[in-house]
Amino acid sequence: MTRPHPLRSALFAQHGLIGVFTTRQGGISPPPGNSLNFAPVAGSGAEHVAENLRLLRLSTGLSRSPIRLRQVHGDRIIAIDERNPSGIKGDAMFTGQANLPLAIQTADCLPILLADPGSGLIAAIHAGWRGTALGIAAQTVRRLRRAGARAERILASVGPCIGPCCFTIDTPCAEALARRTEHQPFIRRLAQKFQADLAGMNIAQLCTEGLISAHIEHIQRCTCCEAEHFFSYRRDGDAAGRQLAVVVRPSCS
Ligand SMILES: [Zn+2]
Repeated sequence: MTRPHPLRSALFAQHGLIGVFTTRQGGISPPPGNSLNFAPVAGSGAEHVAENLRLLRLSTGLSRSPIRLRQVHGDRIIAIDERNPSGIKGDAMFTGQANLPLAIQTADCLPILLADPGSGLIAAIHAGWRGTALGIAAQTVRRLRRAGARAERILASVGPCIGPCCFTIDTPCAEALARRTEHQPFIRRLAQKFQADLAGMNIAQLCTEGLISAHIEHIQRCTCCEAEHFFSYRRDGDAAGRQLAVVVRPSCS
């Protein structure tokens, strides 16, 4: 029987944490959003998503389904505890609770997982171009610091997203991104458009906030190039499913 084989963060595993990024393989959703789709889109119903979550929990040892947000390409950061239901509007979240998995869904946007082993805080961030322009990664680091994290201890796992190979943007979008100076090396002018490195810009934000480069893991996979492995909104439009990025601190770590 097929089952999910998500990409696992080696950096988080070294610290007793779980950070995973699903691929599209190992689920039960029908085409076009086949097969490990985590949103009720592209031919999947709620029953497909529920079964895919069950399969993911089995393959990763999650004790419960992850908390999810209603992602809106903004910069609202939500503090999560056991009382929070899924579906709160926001694009980043954090918690200090063990065994409480947090999940971000994407189909080209960048998922970033953070963890500070010293304080036990973890975070999950959804960074599309709008969130990136708003500095959501930098803001989340600051929010974690206010909650007791230290930047030089924070680990970051930067997941699969649309790569610079496929991410062309128009002038207004390039201008919005270039307002943060640390982004500028990651925006390149083409003949008519611009090419942008979404992961590069967000990693630059993390470094600006004081993260150590050895604490930043970058899983360099392009969701748009790799049709067999990832959903991509730019490639497939409304036929695109959604993959998940999940972080959790097991209570024994
Ligand atoms: Zn690509």
